[in-house]
Amino acid sequence: MSSNESLANLLKEERRFAPPEELAAAANVTAEAYEQAAADRLEFWAAQADRLTWSTKPTETLDWSNPPFAKWFADGKLNVTYNCVDRHVEAGHGDRVALHFEGEPGDARTITYAQLKDEVSRAANALTELGVTAGDRVAIYLPMIPEAVIAMLACARIGAPHSVVFGGFSADALATRIGDADARVVITADGGYRRGKPSALKPAVDEALTKPGTEGVRSVLVVRRTGQETAWAEGRDVWWHDLVPRQSDQHTPQAFDAEHPLFILYTSGTTGKPKGILHTTGGYLTQASYTHHAVFDLKPETDVFWCTADIGWVTGHSYIVYGPLSNGATQVLYEGTPDSPHQGRWWEIIQKYGVTILYTAPTAIRTYMKWGEDIPAKFDLSSLRLLGSVGEPINPEAWVWYRKHIGADRTPIVDTWWQTETGAMMISPLPGLTTTKPGSAQTPLPGIAATVIDDEGNEVPNGSGGYLVLTEPWPSMLRTIWGDDQRYLDTYWSRFENRYFAGDGAKKDEDGDIWLLGRVDDVMLVSGHNISTTEVESALVSHPKVAEAAVVGASDPTTGQAIAAFVILRGSATEDENLVEELRTHVAKQLGPIAKPKRILPVAELPKTRSGKIMRRLLRDVAENRQLGDVTTLTDSTVMDLIQSKLPAAP
Ligand code: ATP
Ligand code: MG
Repeated sequence: MSSNESLANLLKEERRFAPPEELAAAANVTAEAYEQAAADRLEFWAAQADRLTWSTKPTETLDWSNPPFAKWFADGKLNVTYNCVDRHVEAGHGDRVALHFEGEPGDARTITYAQLKDEVSRAANALTELGVTAGDRVAIYLPMIPEAVIAMLACARIGAPHSVVFGGFSADALATRIGDADARVVITADGGYRRGKPSALKPAVDEALTKPGTEGVRSVLVVRRTGQETAWAEGRDVWWHDLVPRQSDQHTPQAFDAEHPLFILYTSGTTGKPKGILHTTGGYLTQASYTHHAVFDLKPETDVFWCTADIGWVTGHSYIVYGPLSNGATQVLYEGTPDSPHQGRWWEIIQKYGVTILYTAPTAIRTYMKWGEDIPAKFDLSSLRLLGSVGEPINPEAWVWYRKHIGADRTPIVDTWWQTETGAMMISPLPGLTTTKPGSAQTPLPGIAATVIDDEGNEVPNGSGGYLVLTEPWPSMLRTIWGDDQRYLDTYWSRFENRYFAGDGAKKDEDGDIWLLGRVDDVMLVSGHNISTTEVESALVSHPKVAEAAVVGASDPTTGQAIAAFVILRGSATEDENLVEELRTHVAKQLGPIAKPKRILPVAELPKTRSGKIMRRLLRDVAENRQLGDVTTLTDSTVMDLIQSKLPAAP
């Protein structure tokens, strides 16, 4: 934010939803958790670490003697994969389904915990045969198939940190990440299915490995998924089906230090060049596991959990792999796109597997709003009992739509705020406890300390906005940016003393609940008022003709910045002069005249990252007639050409 004034607090949302009685009565977590954590935060986390199986129990909880470099449970030892797989089999749950895999072409595979243990053991033996030892980095560039989960667990089992790269990224993006992590092995596939067609992956690996910085890669392990023609480098490339199935299904997991590196993952690049976030073992697993248990109220015997994120995003790491599997959950893993072969594919999957908990992103919800509620209405979604959201602030209107058309006006919604850096959820309602407010993540989870402060670092009073900060270290916090401690310090710990700066704007409402207001970099300064992009976007989305909106501040000679809005209309709406005027008036009515957009441009698509986040910085480049910044994490770069071609030259 570029002025001393805190964020204006414009949006009023008065709807409230109490937790269903039945859920509240049997909830995994009750109000006691907040009390325990408030009484002794470290004691609380030590108790949560006890949910895991340690080969050496930690005696120390937090070592904060060299801030901001934290050590959690430092003298404890454990194996992450043992916790996610073996111990469930030992406890007699080997026959429980771990993964219901649904391929895009309609092929399906069911993998029990006992089978997962065998597969992961074979893959761990295979990596060992390729010479991978503890500490070596392994890059994983796979579609959403069971081998992606198996590969991650195999790496964790032998202490080789993985770096998962989105299957949709280019050879360049892949090369940078392989180089930055200095990986020894790349695990990939010939291709995967996307939008009804096989889409090649291996050529991007071949190309990436011709680039400088990737010389450390010795082997490429290739899963055959699509069967398409694939170039082959003799001596370097190995088929998964040649190497893995002939391995022993016995593998003894070795215990690693709690601070042993578990993975490196690059952020999605919404605000700039992606950062290689480092997560370690014991603290990460403790918080991923606890939050999954608490926020999703998971009952492993009866729930069917589905997180729609890609495995290449942190949500896939923490809430497909480590959280759910450490809790012995049964889950759905889906390879493809939501509209292949038809726009009801997700709802069909929920009906087929009886999904009880769905975790997805606002971008998907808004897309379904655009397609219309008659599509989910054709399917039986009555198995659902809980819905979750992550990735961006959810507009209140999208929240209400989600609850009504997916959750039958019955299921609670948990809006979970967290980041790649935080490793696991930080701010979220608890489904059996919190009376929810559409658009608000509300409360720091038990054991988490978060607040909103102003430019001077003072906590803002209820009813005001400012910067979201975390005021105490947490178990699953990033340990550093891989290979760049200085950037770690500069990015997160230099803006405010002793507090982690999240980079997000937020406000506290009259009850002290937290509302996320978008990136601080995106906050607009109009005639001396700081205005959040999120609030203007939510006002636009509350108009019945708008499905999705992205708002940026473009420099303006009179007002400093002027609000420019890009909107996607709902299915039946058509664009005309009157509509633009109607939308401007609507925003002014919702938020006040100061927030009225100067320009509104209906567009067919918005620029998004592969994890579905709107890249406002690119829209700002467009609105200000600048050359586009880093576009390497964009899903589809032609979207920008389309938008630019619609835009009249700026005055
Ligand atoms: P980069 O840091 O490279 O710009 P990124 O921040 O988009 O990338 P992620 O770590 O995937 O990468 O995203 C975390 C961000 O997503 C948060 O800082 C926040 O802005 C947003 N976010 C996630 N969940 C929520 C939520 N429930 N409500 C509001 N914002 C959210
Ligand atoms: Mg970020």
